[in-house]
Parts: sequence; C-alpha cells; structure tokens
Amino acid sequence: MNAVQEFTLSGVALPKDVGDMLTEICEHFVEHADVQRTEEKVLLTSKLGSASIRIKEQKLLIELSCPSEKALQMSRTSIAEHLFYFAGEDPFELTWSEPELRTRLDNIHEVTVVSAEDVTPRMRRVKFACANLAPFIGGDMHVRLLVPPKGRPPVWPGLREDGRIAWPGGEDELLVRNYTIRSVDTELGELWIDFLQHPMLGVKTPGADFARDVQPGEKVALLGPGGGALPTARSILLAGDESAFPAIARIAAEVSPGTKIQIIVEVMDEKERQPLPSPGSVDIRWLHRSDYPAGASGILRDETKKAIAAMDRDTFVWFACEKEDVRSIRSFLKGRGHDKTNRYVAWYWEHTSE
Ligand SMILES: Cc1cc2nc3c(=O)[nH]c(=O)nc-3n(C[C@H](O)[C@H](O)[C@H](O)COP(=O)(O)OP(=O)(O)OC[C@H]3O[C@@H](n4cnc5c(N)ncnc54)[C@H](O)[C@@H]3O)c2cc1C
Repeated sequence: MNAVQEFTLSGVALPKDVGDMLTEICEHFVEHADVQRTEEKVLLTSKLGSASIRIKEQKLLIELSCPSEKALQMSRTSIAEHLFYFAGEDPFELTWSEPELRTRLDNIHEVTVVSAEDVTPRMRRVKFACANLAPFIGGDMHVRLLVPPKGRPPVWPGLREDGRIAWPGGEDELLVRNYTIRSVDTELGELWIDFLQHPMLGVKTPGADFARDVQPGEKVALLGPGGGALPTARSILLAGDESAFPAIARIAAEVSPGTKIQIIVEVMDEKERQPLPSPGSVDIRWLHRSDYPAGASGILRDETKKAIAAMDRDTFVWFACEKEDVRSIRSFLKGRGHDKTNRYVAWYWEHTSE
C-alpha cells in the first residue's frame, strides 16, 4: 500500500439490505484484501488502494482512494462488478461522482497466438506474443481469456457508467474463461497458458477447445492480471488438480530461494506429470486418479487435510480445484482457526450436469 494516495472517487449504492451487503463484501474480500469492519463500516485495503464503504440511511457510501488513476479505475470496476453480483436478482443502483471517469479498460491486452503444443497428453500449451509484459511479471497471475467469434473482427469490452464492464453482445459476444499465466518469457515477449483438455461426452468445453484448435496469428485478449498473487511465505503448501497445476508450477518456479514447499497434485496418470523446477526445497506427491479404487472420491481433498493437520500454522496454504472440495478445505481451515491472510483457497471449476 502506497503512502501517497492522490486519486479519489466516491459512489453511492442502493442495495435492498445495506447490512447484508456489507456482510457479503467482508466475506468475499477477505480473500483479496485487508478487511476491517465495524458495525456500520468496512475498510478494504489492497495494493490497488483503499475502499471505505459505510452505511448511511439505507445507502452505502463508497470512498475510493488509490495511488494512480489506473488503480482507481480498476478499483471502481472491481467494486461495481462485485456489488452487482452480490445483489443478484434484487434491485440495485450504483452511481459514481465521476461516471465518465474512463470508458476504456486499462487492463485489457490484445495478444497474438504464436504456437500451440501438447506438453502432456491432457495439457496443451498456447504461447502468446504480448507487446507489454510488465503487468504480468511477479504479481497477480490470473487472467480472463477473451476469444472473439470465429471470422469476426474482435470487439473488446469497455466500461459502463456504473463502473461495470460493458461486454459486447450478439454476434460479437466473446468466449470468456479464467486461466493462469503459466510463464512469462521476457526475451521472446511471450506469455504461456496451459489448458487442460477435459473432453466430456455430449458436453461442450469451449475454453479447452480453443487451445485444441487455435492457429498461430489468431488474436485474443487477456483481461487482467488479477487475483491470486504469488505467496511470499517461507513455508508453503500447494495443492490442487490439473487446472491448478499451471499456478502451482508458476509459484514453485518464482518463490525465493530456500522456501520450503510441499506440493500435492492430482492428475490422471503418470503421463501427466511435469517437471517442477524451483529455487525452493520441494517435496512433491503426485496422486494418480488411474490408481484410485473404483468409486473413490475426495482423495485430493482428504490428503490435503492430512497435510494441513500435520504442518505448522505459519505455513501458507494454497489450494485450488473443484468447487465442493474447495468449500470443504475452507471450512476445515476455519475449524482450525487458520489465519485468513495466510491462505489462498479458490475454486477453479465446477461440476455441472448439462
Ligand atoms: C483463477 C482461475 C485460474 C485457472 N487457471 C487455469 C489454467 O491455467 N488452466 C486450466 O486448464 N484451467 C484453469 N482454470 C479452470 C478453467 O477456467 C475451467 O476449467 C473452465 O471451466 C474451462 O472452460 P471450458 O470452456 O473448457 O469448460 P466449461 O464450458 O467451463 O465446462 C464444460 C464442462 O467441463 C467441466 N469442467 C470444467 N473444467 C473442468 C476441469 N478442470 N476438469 C474436469 N471437468 C471440468 C464442467 O463441469 C462442465 O461440465 C482456472 C480457473 C480459475 C478460476
């Protein structure tokens, strides 16, 4: 957090229930920011700056204070997207003191596909040329991949007056999926993303299919990076399935020398193993689904719980996989009184019954 914060903006939100929304804000942002709550007010502090949100006469008064105009715009968009999401189907209004602040998203990067190759039978790596790598180095590692419809010139999103992202619709609708920047190659000016191929009979998998079919020269965009900074603790537990493997590999590669890392990764079989170079001291366990007894479930979740129970409380816990397992790990950590600032527990995908 910078000491000098010069860029400010205020907003007014009208939710159905101000208290409920303040509680939602606290519960969600605790994963991403320092959250201080009193009865009537919450203060969120992150590297983007601070957001004070207080209740006044059935309204939420929002004050943003950020170190740069870009951070202010990102902060406004983040707050707006989340508040509308928390409101769900309920009536909700949000206005800002400067609605015209920006109409262009600052953190959108058009990139060009350089190549695509299989790194394992189920993991496909796409390399993208990117003109400005600086935002992708050392910080947050997640992006939203935006793929325009085939045969149409891309129309990238802008910003609405209420701060939310204005997505193109109709024939210009984009495919939007979350991915991790697996690696940044500053010499070649490239970003790499590893896409799990998870074909399912009768179910479309557009994100995975993009990586399967993509051709050099195609233009897509990356929105971000955001969420999920590289942990800096001296001892880290990293656990997840294949969708989390790119993030696990990136964290392992970028920790400070000497960091103690325990890794648990669940993959289909031995052919899915990849090297995990790291300046840290790494202890890795591979779980192979192909070895599980028929009908077995929750093995990654249970092994992760055992590892958590055996480790010391200063260890940073990083866990990502399917939604239900993530919920289970979150409540396990809560039950142990694990400090929320010392963990990253996020669901990367969700079982659906299409
Ligand atoms: C912050 C973040 C970072 C991520 N990073 C990566 C990454 O680097 N690489 C990566 O491959 N994925 C990553 N994911 C997961 C990825 O976004 C999802 O797997 C996404 O659903 C894939 O989109 P799709 O179009 O292929 O399938 P969808 O259209 O979303 O889903 C189609 C069907 O596939 C099932 N499905 C989706 N994902 C999986 C999966 N992983 N395993 C088994 N079944 C699945 C769904 O239940 C659904 O039935 C990340 C997710 C998040 C939130």
